[in-house]
Amino acid sequence: MRYDTVVIGGGPAGLAAAIKASENGGSVLLIEREARLGGILKQCIHDGFGVVRFGEKLSGPEYADRFIKELRRTNVQVSLFSFVTDTHKCDDGYSITYVCRDGMHTVQCSSIVLATGCRERTRNNIYIHGDRCAGIYTAGAAQNLVNIMGVMPGKNVVILGSGDIGLIMARRLTLEGAKVLGVYEAKSSPSGLTRNIHQCLRDFDIPLYLSKTVTRVFGTTRLEKVEISDVDEKMRPLAGSEQLVDCDCLVLAVGLIPENEIARDMLVPLDPKTKGAYVDQNCQTKTDGVYACGNALHVNDLVDYVSESGETAGIDCVKPAHKRKLIQINTEGKLLYVVPQLLDVNSDVSRVVMYFRASEELSAQRLTITADGQTIFTKVYNKLLPPEMERITVDFTQAASLRDLTVKLEDK
Ligand SMILES: Cc1cc2nc3c(=O)[nH]c(=O)nc-3n(C[C@H](O)[C@H](O)[C@H](O)COP(=O)(O)OP(=O)(O)OC[C@H]3O[C@@H](n4cnc5c(N)ncnc54)[C@H](O)[C@@H]3O)c2cc1C
Repeated sequence: MRYDTVVIGGGPAGLAAAIKASENGGSVLLIEREARLGGILKQCIHDGFGVVRFGEKLSGPEYADRFIKELRRTNVQVSLFSFVTDTHKCDDGYSITYVCRDGMHTVQCSSIVLATGCRERTRNNIYIHGDRCAGIYTAGAAQNLVNIMGVMPGKNVVILGSGDIGLIMARRLTLEGAKVLGVYEAKSSPSGLTRNIHQCLRDFDIPLYLSKTVTRVFGTTRLEKVEISDVDEKMRPLAGSEQLVDCDCLVLAVGLIPENEIARDMLVPLDPKTKGAYVDQNCQTKTDGVYACGNALHVNDLVDYVSESGETAGIDCVKPAHKRKLIQINTEGKLLYVVPQLLDVNSDVSRVVMYFRASEELSAQRLTITADGQTIFTKVYNKLLPPEMERITVDFTQAASLRDLTVKLEDK
């Protein structure tokens, strides 16, 4: 079998990419390892999805459903329960092998869209010592148990991490009857959105403890208690500050990492700042014909932008291939990262959507984009917070020369 494009991952990014690729005339295969399309949205039953795109507050399944219905109106072929095991370059594109219920299949395609989402950091990633007992879950696993399986992960819960997923799980577990003893955060300020601090913690009297972390867990078969320690400004535990908290469940909401096993296997260059691939404005990686979008590209805070990057990849991946000329976009100042990191000057540069995050909480900042010393974009921000991703649209056609591109963040 041969397709114009194969999209790997049926979450919001993959759905958007497959729909756009098909609408633009491509033959598309969408491969998803789970039983249903929708990705992580299937288990996010709280509302707040789609405000930017639809001007409505949808739940995760409602948001996904809109795209699944749209997908059904296209000719996209969907293969569920299918796991990609091998991808490699062949004479006229790529060869993809996947395993599904009726065996192993190999298909050929001209382009690949990687929309594999992200993984959660686990206990091992953050070096929590102690017993190997039951009752320790990542937030996504706990969310899956409660929202999909209808099973409570514990009764007395400690949550580590004050990002949005940790805050939403604190509220969710409380609503289902658990006692959330506290949300503990190693940083000196909460990581989640301010509205989530109010709506998920304050409204439910759930305490938030800052500059503290879990350093050890205790339990013979089931978790019995955790050791909490204060941390210094570099987030190192302070000896002598340990206190024990009795609990039967520890929920870890300590960050997401773009899932890039396939990209790594294909030797697609990855950006150490985003942990996703380096891409140009069309979401094409440094490897011709391989695209990345959604959380596989960088961890997004709004699903609306996940869909947007999927659409960008989907539109471009079925266009006839052209010789790209990639220019590096440099960063200066307190920027955590900028996506895209590359500009293909042989492609449309008139409406380039760029996403960035500040590396720390900042006030009164000016973002400036220069091309060969000429300022082509500037915007002032009263406040920038690392958890809140910013989006801008830049017209690079104003530049006299598209050399030495720099994005700079500085005090106003
Ligand atoms: C636990 C958790 C909770 C979240 N809660 C929220 C929230 O409340 N609000 C919010 O805006 N965002 C939330 N997010 C962020 C959310 O992930 C994104 O908004 C969005 O779902 C990302 O879309 P995606 O398509 O990039 O990835 P995903 O939704 O993760 O979809 C990726 C898909 O790829 C499939 N896949 C991966 N590898 C393979 C393979 N090798 N072969 C076949 N299929 C594969 C997966 O099964 C999955 O279906 C949460 C994320 C996590 C991890």
